[in-house]
Amino acid sequence: MARQPLSAYRRITVKVGSALLVDPERGLRRDWLASLCADVAGLSAAGADICVVSSGAIALGRKLLGLGRRALKLEESQAAAAVGQIALAGAWSEELDRLGLVSGQVLVTLGDTEERRRYLNARATISTLFKLRAVPVINENDTVATTEIRYGDNDRLAARVATMIQSDLLVLLSDIDGLYTAPPARDPAARFVPEVDAITPEIEAMAGEAASELSRGGMRTKLDAGKIATRAGTAMIIASGTRLSPLAAIDRGEPSTFFAPSQTPVRGYKTWIAGQLEPAGWLVIDDGAIGALRSGKSLLPAGVRAVEGGFARGDTVAVLAPDRSEIARGLVAYDAADAVRIAGLKSADIARVLGYEARAAMIHRDDLVVTPAPSARKEASG
Ligand code: GLU
Repeated sequence: MARQPLSAYRRITVKVGSALLVDPERGLRRDWLASLCADVAGLSAAGADICVVSSGAIALGRKLLGLGRRALKLEESQAAAAVGQIALAGAWSEELDRLGLVSGQVLVTLGDTEERRRYLNARATISTLFKLRAVPVINENDTVATTEIRYGDNDRLAARVATMIQSDLLVLLSDIDGLYTAPPARDPAARFVPEVDAITPEIEAMAGEAASELSRGGMRTKLDAGKIATRAGTAMIIASGTRLSPLAAIDRGEPSTFFAPSQTPVRGYKTWIAGQLEPAGWLVIDDGAIGALRSGKSLLPAGVRAVEGGFARGDTVAVLAPDRSEIARGLVAYDAADAVRIAGLKSADIARVLGYEARAAMIHRDDLVVTPAPSARKEASG
């Protein structure tokens, strides 16, 4: 689906990077925030549901606590987030209130989107805020998040939230105006890419590893976000937020990169599976099984060549081709120890090896999301 004016979208998630909201010397950029809130109010008045994912808690807390610009230890980041989040949420609430909008703070941890029950709970809360015409203002709960259990960047968090609440558009506002053929800071010949039909390995190679000083996510996490979003039917725009009224600027035609949503998006329960951030394990499968998966069948133990990771039954695992490219993701029907024992076996032999009558599939097709094949992606985008 081609790019449309923002007013054409029914539900928009807007992610705001720390570097836009917080000036390391002067603190919160109030005028800028006010101008963004005016854009939000305009879209909301036209009938759209708007959800904000706002970074800036750590950057703001660091400023308020006088921690300077040095690297912070985990406990210091957590403390900075505790201080900064109050100020951040307060500023959003005041600026939206001036425009007649009520806002609600939602702080999430990784488990809130990765565990199905909590995912449904978070989704219900945000839907209720929309029904009540309030603007959810979301951030990671950095005060309790530790390295192992955090998103770490708000790009992927925003994509997870956007698809959870079925946004039809995700806007990532940061200090870069979009995707270039190479990181522009390193390659002066880099060209701007205004539109991306599908996030192929070639597109991913354009991202490099760059990240700005204040935010954790570089172009790479933005493309990860794009994969989660577009796969679920959510379009994505990367745009610079460095000017006032950054959403209006997109519609005015200032440079931004548009990522088209998949024409065959996964839906509902499968959106949750496809967007899982960290698989608990990996199954390497043979070519016969790849063909079966692509024609809509379940993954049988017979096609599994190798089992990696310490997953439990019901965990999300990534299914890999022999060259380790990802073919699918799904909820596995066996613990890793049993999966190892039955990998490569015909269904008839499984009960004998395990000692109990077990499920035929390693991953049932209802619990499986197949990644579009590169050629199919091309067709879909053409
Ligand atoms: N959650 C972090 C904060 O509010 C920001 C993470 C990011 O920059 O992506 O400070």
